[in-house]
Amino acid sequence: MNEDLDEKFDDFLQQNNEFYEDCDNEFEPMDELCEEENALSIFEPRDEISKTNMNTFEPWEYECKKNNSDKKHHQSSSIERFINKFKIITNIYHGKYKGMCAYCNLDNKFLHTIDFHHSDPSIKEITWKNRRNKDWKETMELFEKEKVIPMCGNCHSREQADLFNSYREIIIKKNLFEKSAYQIDKLIHDKIKDHEAQYNRNIKFRIVEWLKKRSVIEQLYDGKCVGCNKITVENNLPALQFHHRSERKEVENKFKWHKIKKYDIKTISKELIKEDCVCLCANCHKTVHFKNFKLSDISILGNDYKREVDNYKYGIQQNIQKFELKLTAVNNPLGKGYGYGEAWKKYLLHISKLSTEGKRIKTLNIAKSVGVNSRNVRKNILILLNKGFIRIDGENNNRTIYLTKKGREESNKM
Ligand SMILES: [Zn+2]
Ligand SMILES: [Zn+2]
Ligand SMILES: [Zn+2]
Repeated sequence: MNEDLDEKFDDFLQQNNEFYEDCDNEFEPMDELCEEENALSIFEPRDEISKTNMNTFEPWEYECKKNNSDKKHHQSSSIERFINKFKIITNIYHGKYKGMCAYCNLDNKFLHTIDFHHSDPSIKEITWKNRRNKDWKETMELFEKEKVIPMCGNCHSREQADLFNSYREIIIKKNLFEKSAYQIDKLIHDKIKDHEAQYNRNIKFRIVEWLKKRSVIEQLYDGKCVGCNKITVENNLPALQFHHRSERKEVENKFKWHKIKKYDIKTISKELIKEDCVCLCANCHKTVHFKNFKLSDISILGNDYKREVDNYKYGIQQNIQKFELKLTAVNNPLGKGYGYGEAWKKYLLHISKLSTEGKRIKTLNIAKSVGVNSRNVRKNILILLNKGFIRIDGENNNRTIYLTKKGREESNKM
């Protein structure tokens, strides 16, 4: 029977192959993005880094910006770009935004955090990246035509986090982590159950990633930006990112940020501690990586500008340095009750639930109900079968899984 089951699962996996591929790519919906650009950085991102920079709206900041190129050359062109940006931001729509973020009216010293956001992506044709070295007036006119508005990094992160915004209610629900893993699971399931199955599983993965990010920041960083203490999990989770305290580590930065979100909360926390990372909001992060120019280079901004930015940056850096990264035990609220090698318990509970609901139980229903990696369905069904908690009747496409008496008793114990 086990061999048969294996075949069945192979079919299942094959049918769902598309889903797997989706999973790997789902976190990079580049097309929807506005350009993310830190004009004052002297760091010209290398190709692969500029790719990851476009994902700052995602739960995890992948990599800090690095400098591997000729400083002098880039410094002069980045000063030019910064001044172009300054002129556009102060003059666009007849000076309507006065050089500030269109959403939060953040003051002038945050100019380096300002991005250009296409408020209507359907008419987006030009990008700041392609226009930043060109005539600013022309760029500004094009931006006005395409309804581009200036937005600080924090507001921009939130604005672009579509999935987060759709499920914000669950993701930052008060006292969520006081519930059991099963209750949290059910809460998500109930919220998304009306979507199509394929879509549904993708969504669940992504909601869980946001929950992991929230939990890690709450447990390691008191739930807020270490730099300004103002941006919190509650008021802007999408804007929170991770920054290496040690510049050396940041440059070496071997840790792959795009993989971190796949891990469980304890592993993520361990890595963040090992890498000596702190949590910063997008604006603070841009500020610590922001390379100040000589006053004479940016005199157009006025004398106070440089002093204010320097003071602000100094404050953030002080907070970062004195922050104590706690090495205390980290909880895993999403996995409570399922230790290593105990994932079958979760499957047993789902099968028991489906059975109580009077549903016919097939592997597909289980995958749908659990809503996570379908590869594990196979493994865990075999475990449950071997433990005698389930039996499987029928042939080929007509197989049904039944909870045995023993299985029912076990699930009741949980
Ligand atoms: Zn803002
Ligand atoms: Zn901050
Ligand atoms: Zn950084």
